[in-house]
Amino acid sequence: MTRVLLLGGTGDALRIARQLGAEHVYSLAGLGKVPDDLSCEVRVGGFGGSEGMARYIEDERIDLVIDATHPYAAQISANAAQASRAARVPCWALRREGWQPQTGDDWRMVDDWAELTAALASFRRPLFTLGREPLAHLDDIPPQQFWTIRCLDPYEGNAHARILAARGPFTLEDERALFSAEAFDVVVSKNSGGSATEAKLEVARERGLPVVMLRRPELPAVDREFADVTGLLEALQVLG
Ligand code: NAP
Repeated sequence: MTRVLLLGGTGDALRIARQLGAEHVYSLAGLGKVPDDLSCEVRVGGFGGSEGMARYIEDERIDLVIDATHPYAAQISANAAQASRAARVPCWALRREGWQPQTGDDWRMVDDWAELTAALASFRRPLFTLGREPLAHLDDIPPQQFWTIRCLDPYEGNAHARILAARGPFTLEDERALFSAEAFDVVVSKNSGGSATEAKLEVARERGLPVVMLRRPELPAVDREFADVTGLLEALQVLG
């Protein structure tokens, strides 16, 4: 029997976790909802860096680590690769493809917050769809801008910002209605890939809006990479 430690916090990871039996462990950082209807064990909270994770792997007799965290969760992915090496167990990863710009798209690639705000300088009504980071900058919003920040949990806005607490998936119809009501002139996004949050890009294309896109972080090499959940589940079945 191969005992799996699955690192999650994404919809794809939850799909894998739903297929795992009681001998396996699903691990979450503790930021979002914790599922209470899984057959496998669920643990919540950090391990204490890669050393802590390596200790956990050894203490819990884990045979295989699967990194199915978000493509922008670079720290936990680095920790998973390092801890697996230290504990001498294989590390697999789900590495979902990013979105590709299509004809008519105007993507402006940025690497960090400073580049991102510089790219937004000439716009007035950005829609932020990259999580909580903009909440730390509510006091720095230029006077000519009004920010709409869509993230998982509610948070207090101010005269220059509104926080929309919402969880995907988002439909094309709902995105069209939101863009029309709020008259956004630019979208700020991570290149998450997948279909759950892709509709905003289609609506930006329809409306001729630029997208300020935060580049993906570098992720570590692992023993096996999978582009989708199905391939990963098939490989797990072969292990038994
Ligand atoms: P991160 O910066 O890579 O990780 C920060 C720390 O959080 C890690 O060092 C680890 O603490 C802990 N951690 C992260 N994921 C964990 C997991 N699955 N199990 C146990 N501990 C975990 O991660 P993040 O960007 O803050 O993301 C946190 C969680 O949200 C992840 O589960 C990720 O999949 C999910 N998520 C992230 C994004 C995103 O855009 N970043 C989007 C959707 C979902 P220790 O060092 O103490 O072990």
